[in-house]
Order: sequence, then structure tokens, then C-alpha cells
Amino acid sequence: MKVVSLCCANCGAPLSIKHKVRYVTCNFCDSRLEVHREKDTTYSTIVEAINERTKRLEQSVERLQLSNQLDRLDREWMMRQDEFMVTDKHGHKHRASTTGGAISLALGIAGCGFGFIALLGGMAPCLCFALPFSIALIANGIQLSTKADRYQQALAAYKRRRSDLLARIRVLEQSRPQ
Ligand SMILES: [Zn+2]
Repeated sequence: MKVVSLCCANCGAPLSIKHKVRYVTCNFCDSRLEVHREKDTTYSTIVEAINERTKRLEQSVERLQLSNQLDRLDREWMMRQDEFMVTDKHGHKHRASTTGGAISLALGIAGCGFGFIALLGGMAPCLCFALPFSIALIANGIQLSTKADRYQQALAAYKRRRSDLLARIRVLEQSRPQ
């Protein structure tokens, strides 16, 4: 096989290539070179200099890291859903809602009011039944509202983080060389 000598157009290093090879990567600077043959000379031109290649490589690594972060964010968000769930009396799980919390709180307060009116009216047995039940409703209402609030805050943080990652991925995709 006939071997041809030429210099790297980027760093000037001597290169030996096989006859008829059209593209070569410099062993010294890693530039991608195109081989040109003329009557009595063979020379190279830079197809892609090392800094461009490195940049492209860094961008694809960064893009990969960002999409991994995005996947992890989505997975973690899915796994956190249980934190914001409440189990109703039928054993069904559903997300704590602010409305549910407010209703429970209102019923509890009304129940306490009823209990005190009953007490003042001398109906003690009614009070015994109504008070603990009403206090439980108030506690439940507070717990539901707190969970619902925490869910809204966590959701907002998750959405912010997600759109930030997506924006960074979009910037990388737009700057990707063709
Ligand atoms: Zn070189």
C-alpha cells in the first residue's frame, strides 16, 4: 500500500496516510482533515478544528446531563405524589385539596359551636358526642390545608425547575452546529 506524507493544516504535524484516503484525523491535535491531492503536492485542509470538536462534544455531554436531570426530576416528582395524598374513609387515596380542608375546618368549627350551644342549653350528652368529633374535623381540616399548600408549593418548584432545564436544552439544540 502506497503511503503519502503531508502536514496537518492545523498544527503542522507530519502525517502519513494511505493512498486514496480522503479524510484523516491528526494524531497530534485531533483535528479532522480533508486530504487534497494535486499534481505534485498533497496537502490538508481543516474540516473541523479541535476546539470546534471539543465544543460540540461538550455540548452533547451537557445536553445528555440535562436530559438525565430532567428524567430524574420527573421520576422524583412522581415518587413524591404519596406525600400529598390523603386516604378517605373508604380507603381511597386522593390528593389533599384546599377546598376539602376548608370544608372540614368549617364543619369542625360549626360542630364546636353547636356543642357549646348544647352545653349552655343543658344538653350535656350531645356535647360529649359533638366536641371530640368537631375537634377531629378541625385537625383534619388543618392537615388537609397544610398538605394542599405544600403540594401547590412543590408543584410550582417542580414546574420552575422543569422549564429551566427545558430552556437550557433548547438553547443547546439551537446552537448545535449543522
Ligand atoms: Zn494536527
